[in-house]
Amino acid sequence: MDVQVRVGIAERMSRMVRIPTVSAHVDATGPGPFHDFEELLRELYPLVHERLEFEKITDFGLLFRWPGRTSGSPALLMAHYDVVPVGDEGAWSRPPFDGVIDDGVVWGRGTLDDKGAVCVLLDAVENLLAADFTPARDLYVWLGGNEESHGAAAREAAAEFQRRGIHPWIVLDEGGAVVDEPLKGIRMDAAMVGVSEKGIVTITLTARSDPGHASAPPKLTATDRIARAASRLRAHPFPARMPQVTRDMFRRFVPATRGAMRVAFRIIVAVPWLGARMLAAMAGEAAAVVRTTLAVTMLGGGTAANVLPEEASAVLNVRIAPGETATTALRRVRRVIRDRGVTVSAQEQHDPSPISPVDGEQFRLLSAAVSDAYDGIPSIPYIQMSATDSRYFHVFSPATYRFSPLKMTGAQRESIHGIDEHVTVDALERGERFYRRLIEVLPNDN
Ligand SMILES: [Zn+2]
Repeated sequence: MDVQVRVGIAERMSRMVRIPTVSAHVDATGPGPFHDFEELLRELYPLVHERLEFEKITDFGLLFRWPGRTSGSPALLMAHYDVVPVGDEGAWSRPPFDGVIDDGVVWGRGTLDDKGAVCVLLDAVENLLAADFTPARDLYVWLGGNEESHGAAAREAAAEFQRRGIHPWIVLDEGGAVVDEPLKGIRMDAAMVGVSEKGIVTITLTARSDPGHASAPPKLTATDRIARAASRLRAHPFPARMPQVTRDMFRRFVPATRGAMRVAFRIIVAVPWLGARMLAAMAGEAAAVVRTTLAVTMLGGGTAANVLPEEASAVLNVRIAPGETATTALRRVRRVIRDRGVTVSAQEQHDPSPISPVDGEQFRLLSAAVSDAYDGIPSIPYIQMSATDSRYFHVFSPATYRFSPLKMTGAQRESIHGIDEHVTVDALERGERFYRRLIEVLPNDN
């Protein structure tokens, strides 16, 4: 396929940055910036708007359908155009909403998360349209405007797909990226592709006791019960397990290690149960890879220094590893606490998503597109910690992957939701190539 790539991708990226689509501030700004962004897309991508079917799902979701040569289950490529707030603007080395282009780099909020993906995805489609290409099967492009605020638009879109009986053959959303240090101390270029995401449940513990003077406390006060529950939970963490995907990921990292680290990684790969325990003992990110994590994020109780509180409480943030569910996590918390005087209730809850296949055609095509855009680097599946909009689709579309085709250093990854977020023009150009290749090689429905 002979495709002319349009010039000016950096400028298009910059223009997107200049519209502050901060979904957390929508109550204050109104939908204005989001409508402006829609208008901007119309201007920047004329062929996309002329030739693709377009509909809005809620006020914050843009859905495009590119009819393919054959009918059947489509491909769904997702990104979001809302961004998180910028924090202390003064801490940025370039203003976060100016879209400064400087020495091969575009600066500003959203360049990596996730307007960068919006830009390279639409560029790829526009370039293919200009070359009169038609995909082998239907292609949907979904752009969400409130991913960073619980993704109500994506949830609605997923419900709409189900109502219409559309079950995508492949779903690709944000998540992993092209990195040069996939784990601390592991130096290698790799495309990290999320094949599952952990679940989440927020649990509140509440205990009550008779109020009274603090000078003569009873045997067990409400605060004692909550403190005891928290320390029991700490003493009995969730079991550590090594899913096959994680074990394979470590195997791929072995060649990039040396000395003691290489020994440790070899053990992790050869004796997974022991590896899981080793990682769990390291706490932090390493432990989060192999177990359901639990953190006490809020403690409450008491109104005065000398009065026994009537009620005390704790809030637990639990991130659920594949193999468990919100229900089993809740059951375990109750069992470990072992106290009828403590009420355990769950708020927000999502089960972990199933693990997408890594031996099917979808993953193979995705890896081939990565390899083409990024000089042969490997695609490595992993289980990601954070939630994406794709969780609404995973239930009825088993081949769901989480990956943005943008190259980023460790510092750049930290700038996501932080300060000085920026993307290189080289990454944008390669990202465009990735999506273009992926769309080109989509197979017929058979
Ligand atoms: Zn994002």
